[in-house]
Amino acid sequence: MSNSPESKIKRAIRPQTSLVRGGLMRSQFQETSEALFLNSGYVYDSAEAAEQAFNGEKPRYVYSRYANPTLSMFEERLRMLEGAEVCRGTASGMAAVYAAMACFLRSGDRVVASRALFGSCSYILKELLPRWGVETILLDGTDLEAWEEALSKPANAVFLETPSNPGLELVDLKTVSDMAHAAGALVIVDNIFATPIFQKPMEFGADIVVYSTTKHIDGQGRCLGGAVLCSQEFDDNHLRDFLRHTGPSLSPFNAWTALKGMETLDLRVQRMGQNAMELARHLDGMAGLKRVIYPGLESHPQHELAKKQMLGFGTMVALEVEGGKEGAFRLLNRLQVIDISNNLGDAKTLATHPASTTHQRLNDEERAEVNIMPGTLRISVGLEDIEDLKEDITEALKP
Ligand SMILES: *Cc1c(COP(=O)(O)O)cnc(C)c1O
Repeated sequence: MSNSPESKIKRAIRPQTSLVRGGLMRSQFQETSEALFLNSGYVYDSAEAAEQAFNGEKPRYVYSRYANPTLSMFEERLRMLEGAEVCRGTASGMAAVYAAMACFLRSGDRVVASRALFGSCSYILKELLPRWGVETILLDGTDLEAWEEALSKPANAVFLETPSNPGLELVDLKTVSDMAHAAGALVIVDNIFATPIFQKPMEFGADIVVYSTTKHIDGQGRCLGGAVLCSQEFDDNHLRDFLRHTGPSLSPFNAWTALKGMETLDLRVQRMGQNAMELARHLDGMAGLKRVIYPGLESHPQHELAKKQMLGFGTMVALEVEGGKEGAFRLLNRLQVIDISNNLGDAKTLATHPASTTHQRLNDEERAEVNIMPGTLRISVGLEDIEDLKEDITEALKP
């Protein structure tokens, strides 16, 4: 690879510029847009060159399970945005969550996690890790006393999501990170709901941040992908070898899609956030709704914390519809613009009924603990004209 603009741009660049240009490496063909290197392997000019590549004398691309130029561009762009030392792409968000924990935890370790978790994260914490002799403690992430008690004993990892899916509960990143570090634990934050635009967990003490690029980073419903951001030390000691030898590699095509998605990430997420705020305000107090949950509303119990640790209030809104499941289904089935889908972070506004889909595995009691009621709907607010979104839900709620 030659002529990387990193060799041309000598000044520090600002975030929006790094979203467009960060990590760019041009090939000898001088293409404008980032090239898609759809190749699994690489060739060597001589047997000696192959030997030097493998013994580390001349580091270079050797195999796309380890690294690929398109993937490197994506990783560098996201690394710059997050302000982390290292970024590693993975095949999906779940591959990122799993790798972040499995690469360093061992039998006898303790993990403390907030209970309001994405379904697959809860499988890893509740079913998989305990099978391998890792003790996992799940608690109410909003309850600082519960964190304090759980972290009064040594621990190895803290895992949390803030805001949570779908209840939009926040965890105090700074306070919990401080407690975790005092207990000897690394803090892993699933920052998918907040997005790298609206929340910078490492500034509050998080050690590792994970993303599903499937969500806002692609943002157009095309490709799965994920990423782990961490320190050089964590990568050297744990993550790199785990990823190389277990193989959850991000495909070059998917990496390219996420890379190009990042060019418009800030614009899209800012507009989606504005739409979410306006939709939440419009729906708040409307007949037919018991509750509107959005961290940007003054009525959100953690609105002050949201102002302190988030740069925007997010693109997700939760509603509790009157009439339980029946009421929620009636609303969903009457929508004309908004689609019923369990995905999120898309340009298209998507609505889901968590109790019957994403959180079906939990029983009623477990769902209530994480604020999922029979009438709860989760809305991932997209890029449509806000008036069409307001009208769609207002009409669907009419008696
Ligand atoms: C979607 C999601 C994941 C998993 O990401 P995939 O790309 O679907 O594997 C993990 N955590 C949260 C909060 C998510 O929304």
